[in-house]
Amino acid sequence: MEYVSIFHSQLEFIKLLNYNIIYNPHKNLILFDIWKNKSGLGVGFYGFGILYVFVKFSFSGIVFLSLLILFRKVKYMSNKTCVLDIGHGGRDSGAIGNKTQEKNNNLTLGLKIGKILQQHGVIVNYTRTTDKDFCNGSFDVNEDLTNRIAIAKQYNPNVYCSLHNNAFNKQAKGIECHCFKFGGTDEKLSRSIQNNMVSALNMMIDRKVKASNFYVLRLFDKTNTDACLVEYGFIDSEEDVILANMDKASVAISKGILEHLGIKFIEQINSNIQTINNNKGVDFKMEHAVFYFTERDFSVARMISAKLKDCAMYCRNGVNANIHTDIKYVKHPIFVGGSEYHDNLNTTNCCGEHDYDTALLASNYAKTL
Ligand SMILES: [Zn+2]
Repeated sequence: MEYVSIFHSQLEFIKLLNYNIIYNPHKNLILFDIWKNKSGLGVGFYGFGILYVFVKFSFSGIVFLSLLILFRKVKYMSNKTCVLDIGHGGRDSGAIGNKTQEKNNNLTLGLKIGKILQQHGVIVNYTRTTDKDFCNGSFDVNEDLTNRIAIAKQYNPNVYCSLHNNAFNKQAKGIECHCFKFGGTDEKLSRSIQNNMVSALNMMIDRKVKASNFYVLRLFDKTNTDACLVEYGFIDSEEDVILANMDKASVAISKGILEHLGIKFIEQINSNIQTINNNKGVDFKMEHAVFYFTERDFSVARMISAKLKDCAMYCRNGVNANIHTDIKYVKHPIFVGGSEYHDNLNTTNCCGEHDYDTALLASNYAKTL
Protein backbone atom coordinates (compact mmCIF):
# COMPACT_ATOMS: atom_id res chain seq x y z
CA MET A 1 0.00 0.00 0.00
CA GLU A 2 1.44 3.31 -1.04
CA TYR A 3 0.57 5.35 2.04
CA VAL A 4 3.06 3.49 4.15
CA SER A 5 5.89 5.09 2.26
CA ILE A 6 5.04 8.49 3.76
CA PHE A 7 6.20 7.18 7.07
CA HIS A 8 9.35 5.40 6.02
CA SER A 9 10.54 3.61 9.12
CA GLN A 10 8.04 5.30 11.41
CA LEU A 11 5.18 2.98 10.75
CA GLU A 12 5.04 -0.52 9.53
CA PHE A 13 2.27 -2.06 7.65
CA ILE A 14 0.97 -5.55 7.71
CA LYS A 15 -1.75 -7.11 5.68
CA LEU A 16 -3.90 -9.35 7.81
CA LEU A 17 -6.52 -11.43 6.05
CA ASN A 18 -9.48 -9.10 5.63
CA TYR A 19 -8.12 -6.11 7.42
CA ASN A 20 -4.94 -4.12 7.76
CA ILE A 21 -2.87 -3.35 10.81
CA ILE A 22 -0.62 -0.36 11.07
CA TYR A 23 1.60 0.03 14.06
CA ASN A 24 4.52 1.95 15.37
CA PRO A 25 6.60 -0.09 17.84
CA HIS A 26 8.21 2.99 19.37
CA LYS A 27 4.91 4.59 20.33
CA ASN A 28 2.94 1.39 20.96
CA LEU A 29 0.41 2.51 18.40
CA ILE A 30 -1.65 -0.04 16.57
CA LEU A 31 -4.46 0.74 14.16
CA PHE A 32 -6.81 -1.80 12.71
CA ASP A 33 -8.22 -0.67 9.40
CA ILE A 34 -11.14 -3.05 9.41
CA TRP A 35 -12.78 -2.43 6.08
CA LYS A 36 -9.93 -2.69 3.72
CA ASN A 37 -9.99 -0.27 0.80
CA LYS A 38 -13.39 1.08 1.79
CA SER A 39 -14.69 3.98 3.78
CA GLY A 40 -15.74 3.09 7.28
CA LEU A 41 -14.61 2.69 10.81
CA GLY A 42 -11.24 1.71 12.12
CA VAL A 43 -10.08 1.13 15.65
CA GLY A 44 -6.73 1.70 17.25
CA PHE A 45 -4.85 1.06 20.46
CA TYR A 46 -2.32 3.42 21.86
CA GLY A 47 0.02 2.83 24.78
CA PHE A 48 -1.55 0.60 27.38
CA GLY A 49 -4.71 -0.22 25.54
CA ILE A 50 -6.46 3.12 25.17
CA LEU A 51 -8.96 2.55 22.42
CA TYR A 52 -9.39 4.98 19.57
CA VAL A 53 -12.18 4.84 17.08
CA PHE A 54 -11.72 6.81 13.92
CA VAL A 55 -13.62 7.30 10.73
CA LYS A 56 -11.83 6.44 7.57
CA PHE A 57 -13.18 8.60 4.80
CA SER A 58 -11.12 7.61 2.00
CA PHE A 59 -10.91 5.74 -1.17
CA SER A 60 -7.24 6.46 -0.72
CA GLY A 61 -5.22 5.64 2.35
CA ILE A 62 -3.25 8.84 2.03
CA VAL A 63 -6.25 10.95 2.97
CA PHE A 64 -7.02 8.73 5.92
CA LEU A 65 -3.53 8.77 7.36
CA SER A 66 -3.07 12.48 6.78
CA LEU A 67 -6.15 13.18 8.85
CA LEU A 68 -4.81 10.97 11.55
CA ILE A 69 -1.47 12.78 11.66
CA LEU A 70 -3.20 16.12 11.90
CA PHE A 71 -5.23 14.84 14.78
CA ARG A 72 -2.21 13.49 16.63
CA LYS A 73 -0.10 16.60 15.93
CA VAL A 74 2.63 14.70 14.16
CA LYS A 75 3.49 13.10 17.45
CA TYR A 76 4.42 9.78 15.91
CA MET A 77 7.02 11.21 13.59
CA SER A 78 9.51 11.93 16.38
CA ASN A 79 11.57 8.78 16.51
CA LYS A 80 14.65 9.10 18.69
CA THR A 81 18.15 8.71 17.32
CA CYS A 82 21.37 7.47 18.83
CA VAL A 83 24.94 7.33 17.59
CA LEU A 84 27.04 4.59 19.13
CA ASP A 85 30.69 5.53 18.87
CA ILE A 86 32.64 2.29 18.94
CA GLY A 87 35.91 3.31 20.59
CA HIS A 88 39.25 2.81 18.77
CA GLY A 89 39.54 0.44 15.77
CA GLY A 90 41.87 -0.38 12.90
CA ARG A 91 45.45 0.57 13.73
CA ASP A 92 44.33 1.81 17.16
CA SER A 93 43.70 -1.27 19.28
CA GLY A 94 42.87 0.72 22.42
CA ALA A 95 43.84 -0.95 25.68
CA ILE A 96 45.04 -4.55 25.49
CA GLY A 97 44.11 -7.46 27.73
CA ASN A 98 45.47 -10.98 27.94
CA LYS A 99 42.99 -12.40 25.43
CA THR A 100 41.33 -9.46 23.75
CA GLN A 101 41.86 -5.94 22.49
CA GLU A 102 39.64 -3.08 23.59
CA LYS A 103 38.63 -2.14 20.02
CA ASN A 104 37.02 -5.56 19.47
CA ASN A 105 35.24 -5.60 22.83
CA ASN A 106 33.82 -2.15 22.11
CA LEU A 107 32.49 -3.37 18.77
CA THR A 108 30.90 -6.51 20.24
CA LEU A 109 29.22 -4.48 22.96
CA GLY A 110 28.14 -1.70 20.59
CA LEU A 111 26.48 -4.02 18.08
CA LYS A 112 24.54 -5.70 20.89
CA ILE A 113 23.39 -2.33 22.24
CA GLY A 114 22.43 -1.15 18.75
CA LYS A 115 20.25 -4.19 18.19
CA ILE A 116 18.37 -3.69 21.46
CA LEU A 117 17.84 0.02 20.79
CA GLN A 118 16.56 -0.72 17.28
CA GLN A 119 14.13 -3.26 18.71
CA HIS A 120 12.71 -0.39 20.74
CA GLY A 121 12.27 1.86 17.70
CA VAL A 122 15.43 3.95 18.14
CA ILE A 123 17.23 4.90 14.92
CA VAL A 124 20.81 3.78 15.53
CA ASN A 125 23.94 4.81 13.69
CA TYR A 126 27.49 3.75 14.45
CA THR A 127 30.81 5.49 13.89
CA ARG A 128 32.09 2.09 12.80
CA THR A 129 30.79 -1.45 12.46
CA THR A 130 34.05 -2.92 11.20
CA ASP A 131 37.64 -2.94 12.44
CA LYS A 132 38.81 0.39 11.06
CA ASP A 133 40.29 3.71 12.13
CA PHE A 134 39.50 7.17 10.79
CA CYS A 135 42.84 8.30 9.35
CA ASN A 136 43.73 8.32 5.69
CA GLY A 137 47.49 8.58 6.07
CA SER A 138 49.48 7.44 9.07
CA PHE A 139 47.53 7.02 12.28
CA ASP A 140 47.09 10.20 14.27
CA VAL A 141 44.82 10.15 17.30
CA ASN A 142 43.64 13.75 16.87
CA GLU A 143 42.72 13.21 13.23
CA ASP A 144 40.99 9.97 14.20
CA LEU A 145 38.85 11.67 16.84
CA THR A 146 38.06 14.67 14.62
CA ASN A 147 36.86 12.47 11.78
CA ARG A 148 35.00 10.17 14.15
CA ILE A 149 33.06 13.05 15.70
CA ALA A 150 32.32 14.55 12.28
CA ILE A 151 30.60 11.28 11.39
CA ALA A 152 28.66 11.22 14.66
CA LYS A 153 27.64 14.89 14.35
CA GLN A 154 26.24 14.58 10.86
CA TYR A 155 23.41 12.46 12.31
CA ASN A 156 22.55 15.17 14.87
CA PRO A 157 21.44 12.41 17.26
CA ASN A 158 19.48 12.71 20.50
CA VAL A 159 22.14 10.60 22.17
CA TYR A 160 25.85 10.10 21.50
CA CYS A 161 27.39 7.24 23.47
CA SER A 162 31.08 6.38 23.19
CA LEU A 163 32.02 2.86 24.27
CA HIS A 164 35.32 1.88 25.86
CA ASN A 165 37.18 -0.46 28.18
CA ASN A 166 39.44 1.11 30.75
CA ALA A 167 43.05 0.21 31.67
CA PHE A 168 45.40 1.50 34.34
CA ASN A 169 47.73 -0.37 36.70
CA LYS A 170 46.35 -3.94 36.50
CA GLN A 171 44.66 -3.33 39.88
CA ALA A 172 41.98 -0.70 39.32
CA LYS A 173 38.54 -2.15 38.57
CA GLY A 174 35.02 -1.01 37.88
CA ILE A 175 32.59 0.80 35.64
CA GLU A 176 32.25 4.53 35.11
CA CYS A 177 30.46 7.01 32.89
CA HIS A 178 31.79 10.37 31.80
CA CYS A 179 29.91 13.52 30.87
CA PHE A 180 31.51 16.80 29.83
CA LYS A 181 30.21 18.70 32.85
CA PHE A 182 27.72 18.29 35.66
CA GLY A 183 24.38 20.01 35.77
CA GLY A 184 22.85 19.26 32.40
CA THR A 185 21.30 16.58 30.25
CA ASP A 186 24.70 15.00 29.56
CA GLU A 187 24.99 14.25 33.26
CA LYS A 188 21.41 12.95 33.32
CA LEU A 189 22.19 10.53 30.46
CA SER A 190 25.40 9.39 32.16
CA ARG A 191 23.63 8.77 35.49
CA SER A 192 20.88 6.84 33.74
CA ILE A 193 23.45 4.53 32.11
CA GLN A 194 25.65 4.27 35.22
CA ASN A 195 22.68 3.42 37.50
CA ASN A 196 21.51 0.69 35.14
CA MET A 197 25.02 -0.76 34.83
CA VAL A 198 25.55 -0.72 38.58
CA SER A 199 22.32 -2.59 39.29
CA ALA A 200 22.84 -5.14 36.50
CA LEU A 201 26.58 -5.67 37.03
CA ASN A 202 26.77 -6.05 40.80
CA MET A 203 30.01 -8.02 40.47
CA MET A 204 31.73 -4.83 39.27
CA ILE A 205 32.78 -1.77 41.28
CA ASP A 206 30.77 1.45 40.90
CA ARG A 207 33.29 4.16 40.02
CA LYS A 208 30.46 6.69 39.61
CA VAL A 209 29.76 9.36 37.03
CA LYS A 210 32.61 11.75 36.37
CA ALA A 211 32.79 15.13 34.65
CA SER A 212 35.67 14.94 32.14
CA ASN A 213 36.97 17.37 29.58
CA PHE A 214 37.23 14.72 26.86
CA TYR A 215 37.45 15.93 23.29
CA VAL A 216 34.60 13.72 22.07
CA LEU A 217 32.31 15.00 24.85
CA ARG A 218 33.35 18.66 24.61
CA LEU A 219 32.31 18.81 20.97
CA PHE A 220 28.73 17.98 21.92
CA ASP A 221 28.55 20.66 24.62
CA LYS A 222 25.80 23.22 23.89
CA THR A 223 24.30 21.05 21.15
CA ASN A 224 20.99 19.18 21.03
CA THR A 225 22.89 15.93 21.50
CA ASP A 226 23.27 14.42 24.97
CA ALA A 227 26.71 12.84 25.10
CA CYS A 228 28.45 10.39 27.38
CA LEU A 229 31.41 8.03 27.38
CA VAL A 230 31.13 4.61 29.02
CA GLU A 231 34.13 2.80 30.47
CA TYR A 232 32.92 -0.78 30.81
CA GLY A 233 35.49 -2.34 33.13
CA PHE A 234 39.30 -2.49 33.19
CA ILE A 235 40.62 -4.81 30.50
CA ASP A 236 43.98 -5.15 32.32
CA SER A 237 42.46 -6.37 35.59
CA GLU A 238 38.99 -7.81 34.98
CA GLU A 239 38.98 -8.98 31.37
CA ASP A 240 37.12 -12.22 32.17
CA VAL A 241 34.36 -10.31 33.97
CA ILE A 242 34.05 -7.95 30.99
CA LEU A 243 33.76 -10.81 28.51
CA ALA A 244 31.39 -12.91 30.62
CA ASN A 245 28.95 -10.05 31.18
CA MET A 246 28.81 -8.51 27.71
CA ASP A 247 25.09 -9.34 27.33
CA LYS A 248 24.19 -7.94 30.74
CA ALA A 249 26.20 -4.80 30.07
CA SER A 250 24.58 -4.28 26.66
CA VAL A 251 21.09 -4.56 28.16
CA ALA A 252 22.01 -2.23 31.05
CA ILE A 253 23.50 0.45 28.77
CA SER A 254 20.51 0.15 26.41
CA LYS A 255 18.12 0.52 29.34
CA GLY A 256 19.98 3.64 30.46
CA ILE A 257 19.74 5.19 26.99
CA LEU A 258 16.07 4.21 26.57
CA GLU A 259 15.19 5.56 30.01
CA HIS A 260 16.86 8.84 29.12
CA LEU A 261 14.92 8.99 25.84
CA GLY A 262 11.65 8.27 27.65
CA ILE A 263 11.18 4.89 25.98
CA LYS A 264 9.92 1.98 28.05
CA PHE A 265 12.27 -0.99 28.04
CA ILE A 266 10.49 -4.21 27.08
CA GLU A 267 12.18 -7.17 28.73
CA GLN A 268 10.39 -9.72 26.53
CA ILE A 269 11.94 -8.45 23.35
CA ASN A 270 15.24 -9.77 24.60
CA SER A 271 14.19 -12.89 26.45
CA ASN A 272 11.66 -14.07 23.91
CA ILE A 273 13.84 -13.93 20.88
CA GLN A 274 16.71 -15.82 22.40
CA THR A 275 17.15 -19.25 20.97
CA ILE A 276 19.28 -21.96 22.47
CA ASN A 277 20.60 -24.70 20.30
CA ASN A 278 20.50 -27.87 22.38
CA ASN A 279 19.28 -30.29 19.74
CA LYS A 280 22.48 -31.37 18.06
CA GLY A 281 22.41 -34.78 16.47
CA VAL A 282 18.61 -35.13 16.10
CA ASP A 283 17.24 -35.93 12.64
CA PHE A 284 14.88 -33.04 12.00
CA LYS A 285 12.74 -32.89 8.88
CA MET A 286 12.27 -29.14 9.07
CA GLU A 287 14.73 -26.45 10.00
CA HIS A 288 12.03 -23.94 11.04
CA ALA A 289 8.24 -23.87 11.39
CA VAL A 290 5.88 -21.24 12.76
CA PHE A 291 3.06 -22.22 15.16
CA TYR A 292 0.62 -19.32 15.36
CA PHE A 293 -2.22 -19.10 17.85
CA THR A 294 -5.19 -17.66 15.93
CA GLU A 295 -5.83 -16.10 12.54
CA ARG A 296 -5.22 -12.72 14.20
CA ASP A 297 -1.57 -13.73 14.55
CA PHE A 298 -1.35 -14.90 10.97
CA SER A 299 0.10 -11.79 9.36
CA VAL A 300 3.01 -11.39 11.74
CA ALA A 301 3.58 -15.15 11.73
CA ARG A 302 3.72 -14.95 7.95
CA MET A 303 6.36 -12.22 8.15
CA ILE A 304 8.58 -14.62 10.06
CA SER A 305 7.87 -17.52 7.71
CA ALA A 306 8.70 -15.33 4.71
CA LYS A 307 12.07 -14.43 6.25
CA LEU A 308 12.78 -18.13 6.85
CA LYS A 309 12.42 -19.21 3.22
CA ASP A 310 8.62 -19.64 3.51
CA CYS A 311 8.88 -22.26 6.23
CA ALA A 312 5.80 -24.25 7.25
CA MET A 313 3.04 -22.59 9.29
CA TYR A 314 0.66 -24.36 11.66
CA CYS A 315 -2.44 -22.71 13.15
CA ARG A 316 -3.26 -23.66 16.76
CA ASN A 317 -6.83 -22.41 16.36
CA GLY A 318 -6.75 -20.49 19.60
CA VAL A 319 -6.18 -23.58 21.77
CA ASN A 320 -2.98 -23.58 23.78
CA ALA A 321 -2.82 -27.38 23.97
CA ASN A 322 -3.33 -27.66 20.23
CA ILE A 323 0.21 -28.11 18.97
CA HIS A 324 0.65 -30.07 15.79
CA THR A 325 2.44 -33.39 16.20
CA ASP A 326 4.83 -32.33 13.44
CA ILE A 327 6.57 -30.19 16.05
CA LYS A 328 8.83 -33.15 16.86
CA TYR A 329 10.32 -32.89 13.36
CA VAL A 330 11.02 -29.17 13.70
CA LYS A 331 14.48 -28.14 14.78
CA HIS A 332 13.50 -24.53 15.47
CA PRO A 333 9.83 -23.94 16.28
CA ILE A 334 8.61 -20.35 16.42
CA PHE A 335 5.51 -19.69 18.53
CA VAL A 336 3.46 -16.62 17.70
CA GLY A 337 0.67 -15.80 20.19
CA GLY A 338 -0.93 -18.01 22.83
CA SER A 339 1.17 -19.64 25.55
CA GLU A 340 4.91 -19.95 25.20
CA TYR A 341 6.35 -23.36 24.33
CA HIS A 342 9.26 -24.64 26.38
CA ASP A 343 9.47 -28.37 25.63
CA ASN A 344 12.01 -27.67 22.92
CA LEU A 345 14.60 -25.24 24.28
CA ASN A 346 15.39 -24.22 20.73
CA THR A 347 11.98 -22.55 20.45
CA THR A 348 11.60 -18.85 19.76
CA ASN A 349 8.53 -17.55 21.61
CA CYS A 350 6.84 -14.39 20.40
CA CYS A 351 3.88 -14.62 22.73
CA GLY A 352 2.55 -11.35 24.13
CA GLU A 353 -0.30 -10.73 26.53
CA HIS A 354 -2.41 -9.04 23.85
CA ASP A 355 -2.55 -9.31 20.08
CA TYR A 356 -0.55 -6.13 19.76
CA ASP A 357 2.17 -7.35 22.13
CA THR A 358 2.46 -10.48 20.04
CA ALA A 359 2.55 -8.42 16.84
CA LEU A 360 5.34 -6.29 18.29
CA LEU A 361 7.40 -9.24 19.48
CA ALA A 362 6.95 -11.16 16.24
CA SER A 363 7.76 -8.27 13.94
CA ASN A 364 10.80 -7.35 16.03
CA TYR A 365 11.92 -10.94 15.75
CA ALA A 366 11.31 -10.94 11.98
CA LYS A 367 13.54 -7.88 11.73
CA THR A 368 16.42 -9.80 13.25
CA LEU A 369 16.20 -12.53 10.61
ZN1 LIG B 1 39.28 3.41 25.02
